[in-house]
Amino acid sequence: MKELISLVVPCYNEEKMVPIFYEEITKFVENLPDYDFEFVFVNDGSKDKTWLELIKLSNIDNRVKAINFSRNFGKEAAMFAGLNHATGDYVAVMDADLQHPPQLLIEMLRLIKEEGYDTVGAYRLGRTSKNSSESLLRVWYSKMFYRFINKMSDVKIKENATDYRLMKRKVVDALLQLKEYNRFSKGLFEWVGFKTTYVGYENVERKAGKSSWSFFKLFNYAIEGITSFSIVPLKLSGLLGFLCAFVAFLYMVYVIVDRIVNGTEVSGWATIVTLILFLGGIMLISLGLLGEYIGRIYKEVKGRPVYIIDEIVQKREEKENVTTD
Ligand code: UDP
Ligand code: MG
Repeated sequence: MKELISLVVPCYNEEKMVPIFYEEITKFVENLPDYDFEFVFVNDGSKDKTWLELIKLSNIDNRVKAINFSRNFGKEAAMFAGLNHATGDYVAVMDADLQHPPQLLIEMLRLIKEEGYDTVGAYRLGRTSKNSSESLLRVWYSKMFYRFINKMSDVKIKENATDYRLMKRKVVDALLQLKEYNRFSKGLFEWVGFKTTYVGYENVERKAGKSSWSFFKLFNYAIEGITSFSIVPLKLSGLLGFLCAFVAFLYMVYVIVDRIVNGTEVSGWATIVTLILFLGGIMLISLGLLGEYIGRIYKEVKGRPVYIIDEIVQKREEKENVTTD
């Protein structure tokens, strides 16, 4: 029997891309006649006609499994749902906008089959604003993010790594064991371990539609990544407290000695105001930081499901209606 490869494709407002993606991917898989394929599309609460497009696909192709979320839960949730419903011996996660070139799968498969890797991730080469539509600020911002997260957390994330990845079944099963609500897949992929390697690809522009990431969403994503994998910021804020107390102590000694030796009158309204504001600022920042973690604990402890499925559609016998997962 042929081995099965599942492609997990999260879709949010991709009505234009779904047919293009499908055409391209079906053409591509003909190059790999030794494998069977399954396409797991997850409609992440799109506001456009993505779901209708997916139903159309599932009507003409029984390799298509279409999952509809009850609302938008975010790409992380969509990927998780896709992995949950993928049945392949190998599973790849890829974007619907063809920014993850399907051709790369051939090399990824080779690395797994011939070189014994368990999981192969893809990273973008040459991420400069010259060869992409990204602004300089965004490129810089992403550089800082990787530098920061790799300094601070135990898992090392490859710079410019994407969510595009091919995994063996055992890696998927390991990922599915991580039930956390705040999911940061790039970190989770690393966290589960296994023999991992990376392949690079030149950045490709989106074929149609537009990216759904705003700067604010990206900022939150970065915070998510850092707080999910590191408590170093918490330690830093404690350290900063010690440092301030120490400096304050030295200053106190200086003031006392200055008074005794030089007889300087106690003055310094400006110093006091500056110090109060400075310390107040540091305390508020530390509190905010603490809040970030507590907020996450709060969300985690409620134990809500990562996503809710409205409907799963697949031609053949499997046609189910599920409410939760
Ligand atoms: N996506 C999703 N849910 C969201 C946002 C995005 O499932 O809330 C999907 C989207 O349809 C696409 C992939 O995630 O297949 C990557 O999104 P996008 O192209 O907007 O991100 P970028 O390529 O700019 O990182
Ligand atoms: Mg994209």
